[in-house]
Amino acid sequence: MSNLDREAVPAVCGGRGFVVAEPVRELLSPRRVQLGESTEVRRLLPNLGRRMVGAWCFVDHYGPDDIADEPGMQVPPHPHMGLQTVSWLHRGEVLHRDSTGSLQTIHPRQLGLMTSGRAISHSEESPKPHARFLHGAQLWVALPDSHRSTEPHFEYHAELPVVTAPGLEATLILGEVDGATSPGSTYTPIVGADLTLARGADVRLPLEADFEYAVLSMSGEAHVDGVPVLPGSMLYLGCGRTELPLRAESDAGLMLLGGEPFEEELIMWWNFIGRSQEDIERARADWATGTRFGEVKGYDGAPLRAPELPSVPLKPRGRVR
Ligand code: MN
Repeated sequence: MSNLDREAVPAVCGGRGFVVAEPVRELLSPRRVQLGESTEVRRLLPNLGRRMVGAWCFVDHYGPDDIADEPGMQVPPHPHMGLQTVSWLHRGEVLHRDSTGSLQTIHPRQLGLMTSGRAISHSEESPKPHARFLHGAQLWVALPDSHRSTEPHFEYHAELPVVTAPGLEATLILGEVDGATSPGSTYTPIVGADLTLARGADVRLPLEADFEYAVLSMSGEAHVDGVPVLPGSMLYLGCGRTELPLRAESDAGLMLLGGEPFEEELIMWWNFIGRSQEDIERARADWATGTRFGEVKGYDGAPLRAPELPSVPLKPRGRVR
């Protein structure tokens, strides 16, 4: 928590039609996590006090890193279940391979969206050769119970709708802002948008009152609802807002994440989202024995092994820890 957290965080924001809680301004600090041998990421979700924003349940921000003489990102084949992954870049590129046969280089401000459904595996690597700088975010979206066993698939959307206002360019990653809708598949009411603010921008972004929101800073100096948010930090905004004031002292890059509060309880362990201990145990065993999650072809290296399960039972948890 932060010294900006002057208002209590609501225990329940409610779904659509529910009484909407007051807006909050809760600055979430990142936790540094080593990803493979060469990449350090800043993890914003899950965070100490908060696990989800809408169905967004995992947010890593990385770079900008100078990888001119480095291998860059090297994440060997690993499985996913019960979620979607969103790969979003500001600089550089990432080569995605998955067990449905996808082979796709992801470029800045183009959407790599993988829906794991019941089971998928993938790898992510900096291609050879690659650009000097790598800067982006890796995000997960929890699938609701009704869609968590859906068919695994990968989508790549090079063209995304852009909404503009003086000093603001908003690219739709998922969902809708101001009448523009991303072509990416969604399974809950959700929004993700990339916000480019020009120096001196002073704008108000329209929001949905019954969504909860957070803003991740990627670069530059921006004030979100009056709060300075530095690159690698995220401001949780709560629910009950119809607009969001944004100001930029310099050119700045932000990501808006939001959605209807996700009321189902989840078990999130390693790369899996389930509803019970048994779901997770079965997924772990299936990955270990090479069943269900398929095979990633062409990655130069061994797949990741799942860690040991904790000796205490995993507990289903809600949006707030
Ligand atoms: Mn992954």
